[in-house]
Parts: sequence; C-alpha cells; structure tokens
Amino acid sequence: MVRFGPAGRSQSVDAFDAASKGTSAVLEHACSLGLTAFEYQCGHGVRIGDKTAKEFGAVAASMGISLSLHAPYYISLSGLEAEKREKSVAYILDSARAADAMGATRIVVHSGTAGKLPRVDALSLAKDTLMRSLCALDAEGLGHIHICPETMGKINQLGDLDEVMDLCSIDERLIPCIDFGHLNARTLGSLSSESDFAAVLDHIEDCLGRERATRFHAHFSKIEYTEKGGEKRHLTFADTQYGPPYEPLMELVAQRNLAVTFICESAGTQAEDAAAMKACYDSFSAGV
Ligand SMILES: [Zn+2]
Repeated sequence: MVRFGPAGRSQSVDAFDAASKGTSAVLEHACSLGLTAFEYQCGHGVRIGDKTAKEFGAVAASMGISLSLHAPYYISLSGLEAEKREKSVAYILDSARAADAMGATRIVVHSGTAGKLPRVDALSLAKDTLMRSLCALDAEGLGHIHICPETMGKINQLGDLDEVMDLCSIDERLIPCIDFGHLNARTLGSLSSESDFAAVLDHIEDCLGRERATRFHAHFSKIEYTEKGGEKRHLTFADTQYGPPYEPLMELVAQRNLAVTFICESAGTQAEDAAAMKACYDSFSAGV
C-alpha cells in the first residue's frame, strides 16, 4: 500500500493539542487527517529514550501508522577523517536502536558532502562507511533495520540520483530515500511532467530492480533553489513557482501500483500537504 505522512511536528499540531503537547499528539493529528506514516525527527541527535520510543511505537501501531526515523544531519558517510566516519557509524547505530524500539524499520541518512574530494572518491568513502554500518547493525541484531540513503538538494552535497543508486547497490537491504524536492532543486527544476517523474522511477528499477523500485522511501516538498547552489529552503504546497508538482507523480504511482512511503517535508504544513498528496493519489487510484 502507498503510505503518506508528515516529517515531524506540523504547526497545526499545537492548535490540535494545545493542552497536553504530548508526544503522541503528532500521531493523533496525523491519524485525524487519514495519514498512515510518520517520520520521527532525530536530525539534531537521537535523544529519545527507550521507554518513550516504545510507548510512541505502541500508539503508532494502534493507529495503523508506520514509523520511520530521520537520522542526525551531522552524519557524514563521506567525511574526510576516519574518526568522523567512525562516529557516523555510531550515530547510525544509535538511530537504528531508537527506530527498533519504536517499531520503525527504516532510518533515513544523508550521504555527506564531497568537500575537497573528487566526487568519485567521496562516494567510495561513503560506500565503505555504509558497509561498516551494516556490519555494526548485524552485530547488534539490528540487521532488519533498513538504512535509506537520501537524495540531497544542494549541488555540492553527495547524493544525486546516480550517487544514491550507487550507494544502494552495495547491499539489497539499502532502500533509497528519493527526495523529489531535492532532486528538482539540484537539477534546477527538471521535474515537472509525468515523463520527467517516469524517468526517475524507471532509473530506480534499472539500477536496483523491481522490488526496491516498488517499495522505496520518498520525501516530497516544494523547494526554493538557486542556480549556483541548488536547494535554498523548503516551501509549502502553496508555492507555484519552484515545484515540483506532486500530481503527475501521484498518477504514476497509482498507474504502476507502487507501494511507496511518502513523507512530506513542507515547511510547517507537512501533515496537511501529506493529506493533499493522499487525496490526489486516491483520486487517481480510484480511476485505475
Ligand atoms: Zn533528510
């Protein structure tokens, strides 16, 4: 099944649950909008304790909400110093432990930057760090947690579509996190028509096979970009200038009967915008 949900806490959750501000309010809010996915944000560090994670996971499960977890932004798979890469393995392990406690099976990880290295060298460092991370997860009995390398929005970041395909090629358990807003931003607006999105979906299948092309993880938001740097800032679906539009992708996902999990990362309206994507998808899937 296709799932839709927000990345973290939307602004409207505050009004929805002004009294308690409890952690499960985000889930109740998502559920009230008919959403069935939620991405827990650990971008600034894995701070959730085991007990809270288990309680959060139990509430999500009772609502039929599938959880994923965004690992810390400071992870750099391609860090130049070995020590930085070792730390990244440890942060991935921390993320996987928290994910496991809440019943999530996917953690989203940024690839890092190319820095002063040629991209191809940065990529091989990133692959090595990913391989070490997989070994670390296996050693702790966390091999069922999928690491999802994400396509990144800034041009100098590692993580264009081909680089993410390459990273995911080292082990079948790696699931790409295709961030369509990031792809559109770093290619200065290449995603607008159905055929533009179809080319991305076809490329995933060519590189990683049918299974992962059917069940990949996705982020979606409209993102402002600049010609020089790519991603500048996340917008909301009210944007009509930068895109990308979600409608052609929703039609394709319905036509191809894919089982993608879409996490919306709009700036503040991520739950409402996830619900808008779901409504659009539902209208197409009803017609298939
Ligand atoms: Zn991300």
